[in-house]
Amino acid sequence: MNNDRRALLKTAAMAAAGSMVAGATLPVLQADQAVDGLPTGEGLEWNKAPCRFCGTGCHVQVGVEDGRVVAVAGDKAADVNKGLLCVKGYHVGSILYGKDRLTRPLLRKDGKLTEISWDEAIETIAQRIFDSPDTFAFYGSGQWTIPEGYAAQKFMKGGLSNNHIDPNARLCMASAVTGFLATYGVDEPAGCYQDLDECDVLITWGNNPAEMHPVLFSRVTDRRSRGEQVRIIDIGTRRTRTTDAANDYLEMKPHGDVAISLGILHLLIENDNYDKSFVEKHCNFRGDEADTPTLQGEPISEEEFRKRIAKYTPEHVEELSGVPADKIRMLADLFGQHDIRITSLWCMGMNQHTMGTAINSLVHGVHLLSGHFGRPGDAPTSLTGQPSACGTVREVGTLAHALPGGRVVTKPEHREQSEGFWNVREGSISEVPGYHTVKMFEQFTKPTAEGGDITTMFVQVTNPGQTLPNLNALFNDKQGLEDKFLIVSDVYPTATTALADLILPAAMWVEKNGMFGNSERRTQQWFKMVDPPGEARDDCWMTIAIAHKLFEMGHEGMKDKDGAFIFAVKDDAGQEIPVWEFDRYYDTNVDKHLFEEYRQFTTMKHKNLAPYEEYVKARGLRWPVVEQEDGSWRETRFRFSGFDDPFVKAGEEFEFYHSSSSDGRAQIWFHEYQPPPEMPDEEYPMWLCTGRVLEHWHTGTMTRRVSQLSRAMPTAYVEMHLEDAQAANIRQGEIVTIESRRGVCDLPVWIDGRGRPPRGTIFVPFFDETKLINNCTLEAYDPFSKQPDYKKCAARVVKKTTAKVPS
Ligand code: SF4
Repeated sequence: MNNDRRALLKTAAMAAAGSMVAGATLPVLQADQAVDGLPTGEGLEWNKAPCRFCGTGCHVQVGVEDGRVVAVAGDKAADVNKGLLCVKGYHVGSILYGKDRLTRPLLRKDGKLTEISWDEAIETIAQRIFDSPDTFAFYGSGQWTIPEGYAAQKFMKGGLSNNHIDPNARLCMASAVTGFLATYGVDEPAGCYQDLDECDVLITWGNNPAEMHPVLFSRVTDRRSRGEQVRIIDIGTRRTRTTDAANDYLEMKPHGDVAISLGILHLLIENDNYDKSFVEKHCNFRGDEADTPTLQGEPISEEEFRKRIAKYTPEHVEELSGVPADKIRMLADLFGQHDIRITSLWCMGMNQHTMGTAINSLVHGVHLLSGHFGRPGDAPTSLTGQPSACGTVREVGTLAHALPGGRVVTKPEHREQSEGFWNVREGSISEVPGYHTVKMFEQFTKPTAEGGDITTMFVQVTNPGQTLPNLNALFNDKQGLEDKFLIVSDVYPTATTALADLILPAAMWVEKNGMFGNSERRTQQWFKMVDPPGEARDDCWMTIAIAHKLFEMGHEGMKDKDGAFIFAVKDDAGQEIPVWEFDRYYDTNVDKHLFEEYRQFTTMKHKNLAPYEEYVKARGLRWPVVEQEDGSWRETRFRFSGFDDPFVKAGEEFEFYHSSSSDGRAQIWFHEYQPPPEMPDEEYPMWLCTGRVLEHWHTGTMTRRVSQLSRAMPTAYVEMHLEDAQAANIRQGEIVTIESRRGVCDLPVWIDGRGRPPRGTIFVPFFDETKLINNCTLEAYDPFSKQPDYKKCAARVVKKTTAKVPS
């Protein structure tokens, strides 16, 4: 038991709960109240589930009585969180019981939402798809469960021969994917959370884990409270709660991270202080092709790398990044020490970046060049914001170009393998990647007559009406779009349902079976524990029901090669179970059927998963999970390291067995620094950065309905530096208008608040649907990952009124 760590998290939880005065909320059990097991009582049953929120993947125990979730507790048996939860996790059960749950399908008729039956809803969707299958798009989520994402993926790519499927994770971690692919030839972190327990130095790159992944961050602060020395170096564009815990704070200009990493690489080479043995044995050097850069790049010699990196002296990096030259030297000196262990941590700051692939690759390169790789505590590690961005998006491959298990649509052999696993006709899968998120919404919001070739879009488990960048261009405008049709499945009314033509009420979290995959390659499973309200239904069921309606209508793609329904599920006697009828959906475990089918894909790129039943027993398992001689299943903590990874050749210390250079080596990349696509000027003199807060999860759809959380953080705000506010005669709490070239947003000012931006920078969280800061953000994206940059654009603050916001 770890009292200090627990105290830290409890303090955060109670601070948030303290301002709550009323509201229907659940009793919260702190983990240490459940001393030797959980409380018992007649009719009270406990079962495990991963937390519904962030990619940390904490486990909770869920207490159910009389068909309702009545309590939650941190799960002591879970390796990720050992009984701890953050303030959101403690209140996760309450998200089911907001007063305005969607409970009936609603169709917009003559501008008014009208209740309709599920039969009519499914028929309406299927007819639109049947009439125009190629102009249909499916927009999904890193909150999709693994079976939900897999069903959507198979429906689109295998059934409709349509690759226009993309997830909201495109907006949060696509650059991490391209960074891993460019460097190692395969996606996802090599290490695991144990790195946080063993590092001597933790570097947070544009990352605020104290608020965004608090249970993970507490692993480090807890070590300090036990007397261990862990140096935290926070590199950021504004001071945050992570800065408060840091030994060093290096404040950079937006985009400065690219220059800083180049500066470290330069000094490691210049001072002859890199790990020559590691580099000679395990690395190549790469650079962009001169004409059309690709993710593959082209090989360059070490000599050429030296030449290209030579200009990134500490002084030049200081000019580009704003970080003093001596701090760049300090970082390079640390990486030059081989007897310490260094973990780099990042999330949206490096991913939501027009040089996202470049900065991800460069930070991997810093670790590879210095040899700070592959030992526990030596790790370049990206985190995910969503609970299954890894499991459902990266592993199931629900991106427009991907297939399950690390396959891609552009490779004939990958299509052939996938068609084989799905038993669909040869040539069913199109070789042309579908539209990525920004392009998909551009095509949906462009009139058909002008080439807007997406006419029907189905959005599941996400809220693009709040999260897309430049909302006025990509979402808000419905002019001239009368023939377009937006279908949204969600649990509560949102900014997206506000414009929907058809709204489907969804089951959520423990109202359905599910599986997630967290940031450390851990696949987690849970069972349905309570019924959803009214007529709300599982998203996975919706996909199967639409597919079956198309099957009945004679759509050839919904038949496999033998003429059977592509989602056919049979009982032990070989009889088909009509799982497309909702009252028969739980006659069997559809998740298990889908997962076992999906599992076949996972051996193709050493992402092996265990049978479903192994996940029922465990609090998640980290892939690759490999069967042992005694029939047990062993997970892997450290990929590519011979001491732990079963796929590294015997006797090898390291092996990058999916190397893009096919020689077992990782790639150390050079990328030239480029300025941001939009910078402050006379007209728009401020940098605008957006992000999240501790209390709310992403768009706040769920957490704003939990009274403790919404009262602790009731409204979005704009953080300003005191001197900027004084110069504009703006006072604390005053409402101002944030303006960019794309839109406006009114917000109260918070001077020297939780986050403290430097002069010339403002920060706005995006959780509040009444204050849509994405009206102002820029849709410019990374050329490889297609992930937009929400962290920097030019804006101005306009004084609106001197009236104070009610406190
Ligand atoms: S929100 Fe994240 S850190 Fe908090 S309890 Fe849930 S999974 Fe853990």
